[in-house]
Amino acid sequence: MNEQMTRIPCRNCMPPVQATAEDIARIIEAIPEERRVSDEEYNDRLAHCSGCEKLSEGTCSECGCYVAVRCARARMYCPLYKW
Ligand code: SF4
Repeated sequence: MNEQMTRIPCRNCMPPVQATAEDIARIIEAIPEERRVSDEEYNDRLAHCSGCEKLSEGTCSECGCYVAVRCARARMYCPLYKW
């Protein structure tokens, strides 16, 4: 893979490289409601991530996503099938 290819942002959530909590909140807000999970489902997913050994500073080291964003998207799933 050439250097230009490694700079392509994630097409799923496209957050800045070092997203703030406000950035994450804006990204989640931008997800159409019909594509978001319910609050109950969201909290259940986040609870799994919170206790997961793959969680590192808000990012899943297995898939590279910000878990707060990944958990909000209805079509997403845990790469280790924990949720
Ligand atoms: S998405 Fe899955 S593997 Fe990644 S931190 Fe959450 S529970 Fe762990």
